[in-house]
Amino acid sequence: ESYLAAIHAANDTLNAYVTVTPDRAREMAKASDARLARGESGALEGIPLGIKDLFATEGVHTQACSHILDGFKPRYESTVTANLWADGAVMLGKLNMDEFAMGSSNESSYYGPVVNPWRRSREEPSLMPSTHMGEGGFVHSGGGVTQARTLDNMRLVPGGSSGGSAAAVSAFLCAGATATDTGGSIRQPAAFTGTVGIKPTYGRVSRWGIVAFASSLDQAGPIARDVRDAAILLKSMASVDDKDTTSVDRPVPDYEAALGRSVKGMKVGIPREYRVEGMPEEIEALWQKGIAWLKDAGAEIVDISLPHTKYALPAYYIVAPAEASSNLARYDGVRYGLRVPGRDIVEMYEKSRAEGFGREVKRRIMIGTYVLSAGYYDAYYLQAQKVRTLIKRDFENVFDSGVDVILTPATPSAAFGIADEDMAADPVKMYLNDIFTVTVNMAGLPGIAVPAGLDGHGLPLGLQLIGRPFDEETLFQTAHVIE
Ligand code: GLN
Repeated sequence: ESYLAAIHAANDTLNAYVTVTPDRAREMAKASDARLARGESGALEGIPLGIKDLFATEGVHTQACSHILDGFKPRYESTVTANLWADGAVMLGKLNMDEFAMGSSNESSYYGPVVNPWRRSREEPSLMPSTHMGEGGFVHSGGGVTQARTLDNMRLVPGGSSGGSAAAVSAFLCAGATATDTGGSIRQPAAFTGTVGIKPTYGRVSRWGIVAFASSLDQAGPIARDVRDAAILLKSMASVDDKDTTSVDRPVPDYEAALGRSVKGMKVGIPREYRVEGMPEEIEALWQKGIAWLKDAGAEIVDISLPHTKYALPAYYIVAPAEASSNLARYDGVRYGLRVPGRDIVEMYEKSRAEGFGREVKRRIMIGTYVLSAGYYDAYYLQAQKVRTLIKRDFENVFDSGVDVILTPATPSAAFGIADEDMAADPVKMYLNDIFTVTVNMAGLPGIAVPAGLDGHGLPLGLQLIGRPFDEETLFQTAHVIE
């Protein structure tokens, strides 16, 4: 009830939820109470969660924040959410996101932008009276959310595409949230909102029942208030699944048990190629701070090279749109959501897709069909796939040399303003937000974003840790030292 009241009080301002499900929440909470009365308790018994609108939830709107999925209510549940409910979690509703998860600011949603609960501070260098990130800008008072300080009026983006998930967790509108990451969509919004987000190894979590964007890159994970919560949520989300042939049959470790383990003697790699041109000084300073913390905790810091890093972003923006153009071919006005009538079936397809998809989605479909078309396939798509292999090898070489974990900034800046003119004028500027995160998806590796400090305006900044395939434990262990 406290979370439902908080959503009621704050959602008009933040727009983090696109669907709230109070009846479902109360029904699930009651069932949870009944289980507790019988002495049964799941790992997430009674914990209220927000679900990104990309996850199929039975009988509840699942629209990927696109007009083309208007009114779509799946008759099935995604494996991830089914796993969470089986552990006793409670659904509060569906969270806003970039349309089909394409974007880095949550501004491509059909349901409008999400507002970051954090604001720039005018006079004060820090908004953090307490020791806990995320609580600085807000006081949680009896179900409402009120602003704590005199703040700049500019509304900031929460990052994307899981902007609703990050904003809702940061503003106490859920205890944790599901999210997905194709090129940074868990880690970048986590960094922009002072929350923790982990993209697990490709194959760790089933993709079944999650609306597909780029199937070889998509992976679901949690956004949570701290590393412990993220560890508990990922344990519940992860499973092998017959319905997703790319899910991997490996036991899911007790991630929480990794917290508190010493990092003494651990080898932490610092990739020199991530020192990108034009990177703000405060991001460099944050990185140095992270290095110092891990050094103090007994880790060994080593300089490493990932030589193909500079090709990751261009290659990603070929591979991801190519797969998206193929995945999005199914939205034809016949099977799901919106149908705009035409004189014949072809005109109906055209009109439904013309009206149903937003600008960014259409841009991706056009890039994707172009790079896959005869005559261009070899020049673009095939080249990008080769580059992808080289990127993967860069990481393999580093991990083979004994490096346990790689430390980088999570994003090249703190949260920026809604309707930023530079980014609106040039989509490539928006794509640059993903510069530190896409390599991880290209290589299929796990990556975590952990809050590590504030910029000069009191906005949260995050560090990223990248690990070996299926070694999420080392990420939790190391992130716990940083947080
Ligand atoms: N920002 C990236 C994109 O727009 C990544 C999105 C994601 O991870 N879903 O493609």
